[in-house]
Amino acid sequence: MSELVITAEMAVDTRQASTICGFCGVGCGLTITVEDGNITKVTGEKNNPSSKGEACIKGREGWRHLYSDKRLTQPLIRKDGELVPASWDEALDLVANRFMEIKSEYGEDAFGVFSSSRSTNELNYLAGRFIRQVLGNSNIDSCNRA
Ligand code: SF4
Repeated sequence: MSELVITAEMAVDTRQASTICGFCGVGCGLTITVEDGNITKVTGEKNNPSSKGEACIKGREGWRHLYSDKRLTQPLIRKDGELVPASWDEALDLVANRFMEIKSEYGEDAFGVFSSSRSTNELNYLAGRFIRQVLGNSNIDSCNRA
């Protein structure tokens, strides 16, 4: 029988991290397994006091979108009917300028913000600040209501 030899080059750097699923407002605990810097598995976190190791398919399998070749990795701007890659500065300038054009043409009430139960408290707070202080109204809602 031959002896199994594992060299340093063959060893896989495996780590686990605990987090909270961000796919919906339930907030199940998840354990993420990372091998050589890539996520390889996500399971429900057994020690989480509310979800107790349970997680639906979105929580367990949604991480695969991170490695999709269809994932957007940079802003796209439509030019002459085609979406073309742009820098963040270019994309944000375009959005800010369009907001100001719309505000000038139709007034502050032309805007509304629709937030999400998937957003963090911090993001929802910033969405509220943005609509009130930058766009100038309180037209904010979310899908949280029954
Ligand atoms: S695992 Fe499913 S139920 Fe739990 S927070 Fe994620 S999406 Fe919601």
